Amino acid sequence: VQAVFRSNLSHLLELMGSGKESLIFMKKRTKRLSAQWALAAQRLAQKLGDTRRDHKQILVHIGFLTEESGDVFSPRVLKGGPLGEMVQWADILAALYVLGHGLRVTVSLKELQSNLGVPPGRGSCPLTMPLPFDLIYTDYHGLQQMKQHMGLSFKKYRCRIRVIDTFGTEPAYNHEEYATLHGYRTNWGYWNLNPKQFMTMFPHTPDNSFMGFVSEELNETEKQLIKGGKASNMAVVYGKEASIWKLQGKEKFLGILSKYMEVHGTVYYESQRPPEVPAFVKNHGLLPQPEFQQLLRKAKLFIGFGFPYEGPAPLEAIANGCVFLQSRFSPPHSSLNHEFFRGKPTSREVFSQHPYAENFIGKPHVWTVDYNNSEEFEAAIKAIMRTQVDPYLPYEYTCEGMLERIHAYIQHQEFCAAPGPAPPGAHAPQSPFVLAPNATHLEWARNASVAPGAWPLAHSLRAWLAAPGRACTDACLDHGLVCEPAFFPFLNGRDAFLKLQVPCDSTESEMNHLYPAFAQPGQECYLQKEPLLFSCAGSSTKYHRLCPCRDFRKGQVALCQGCL
Ligand code: UDP
Repeated sequence: VQAVFRSNLSHLLELMGSGKESLIFMKKRTKRLSAQWALAAQRLAQKLGDTRRDHKQILVHIGFLTEESGDVFSPRVLKGGPLGEMVQWADILAALYVLGHGLRVTVSLKELQSNLGVPPGRGSCPLTMPLPFDLIYTDYHGLQQMKQHMGLSFKKYRCRIRVIDTFGTEPAYNHEEYATLHGYRTNWGYWNLNPKQFMTMFPHTPDNSFMGFVSEELNETEKQLIKGGKASNMAVVYGKEASIWKLQGKEKFLGILSKYMEVHGTVYYESQRPPEVPAFVKNHGLLPQPEFQQLLRKAKLFIGFGFPYEGPAPLEAIANGCVFLQSRFSPPHSSLNHEFFRGKPTSREVFSQHPYAENFIGKPHVWTVDYNNSEEFEAAIKAIMRTQVDPYLPYEYTCEGMLERIHAYIQHQEFCAAPGPAPPGAHAPQSPFVLAPNATHLEWARNASVAPGAWPLAHSLRAWLAAPGRACTDACLDHGLVCEPAFFPFLNGRDAFLKLQVPCDSTESEMNHLYPAFAQPGQECYLQKEPLLFSCAGSSTKYHRLCPCRDFRKGQVALCQGCL
């Protein structure tokens, strides 16, 4: 059966249930964005033409909203608590629904059990039973609940699960045995899923799938209106909780800021002004989402104090024509040195409050400066007040972009098929690569065949030997490409090294998330023994990593150019 685009979201609003503040917030958002979703569906339908889209039965189990996992978020929706997750879940539901799939939504263990066909009251079902869903979207809490209550079915069907995982899970933390042996064990990792089954809020590492969310899009008239109505001296501070105003050293840069601009805040408060917020700040309190957008439309500057990390708000600000100013982190924040990231299954180093804004958007919309350097900070404020910027929203954060991406995932990502041939290993047949004419990298041989149905398309693949200490994520970006973990198996043999003219004295095959790689001292080449450990993330000064890179669609980094 083919899926048919839907443009009326009222049935989805019913499916979403009611009661909790979090659900109310999500439903308001979905309702507000209905027209944008409908328009996006129309455009994508046109773009895809008669491309086949299989209809799927999908269960969405939002684990963090269940009472059984403590549901700490719902009571904080109106009190300045995090909203990013709810923004994302609302958008995932809308996208799946608009794409025309069969949808069930659960936010309690009881509903989950009844949808899975587990008899209520029974802790778990020991037998495997047929699963009535082709796909299940959940989070780490939901994953745990399914493991506990699905019995043997869990093992059988876990390949159908997609885990919405804000910060991402790197392969080294995902592989249970490896994580345990090498100190990558955390509260969250070690599920031995295909790393692509984890779906992130921003494109962190291509080892995971980038899910994202959407930001409201303006039409041309609105854009012109906004540009005309900006108050060049109005700044809004990023953050809903008073705690961000306690940041050390903020007096200095806040003093400079207030010299030039009128400072506004949207900090939650109960009855009286939060004492952390200085008197000269015009605090609006926590605003409903549409009013927050209105405030951004008037403001020139949206300024981050260093926390929260990587939320939706800066994208909304930029989409509404603000400049986003944020602090550079030096040294970078990571699970090694910052409480917030501790125990998260990633080694990622965060060089600013919002790395996506810094790296994918940048100037003139995004300024990343050292807040400890008063001169640099002051110069930035002055320059920002003088610059005219247009509202900007990257395609991948528009409704159409998100629909396009999820469509591609649903039609092409397949983790249940019997594993293909083992990675070639030391005795690999000829790899399908040749050395590029300039001899710096490998490219796909013109006459090499591609397995039918393979996705992403391998033709776009190019492979480099990275500098020591360089992760494949970065090595590929250096060449204007992204790392593509699905292509590691092609490189995992002596042949690839030979063609790159890497002088391997010997070749060994081991479990190591940095392999395939070449170690200069000893001239040794290392191959990957465990396919689950192929990883774009990760580096060591000991190794030149062998990195598979691919091209991507403009504004849609998740998809290669021929991948729709
Ligand atoms: N937001 C809001 N009212 C406000 C400030 C922000 O509704 O006064 C919304 C904003 O539109 C954004 C969401 O809160 O979509 C989450 O933004 P943030 O970047 O702060 O991420 P969080 O830390 O909440 O996950």
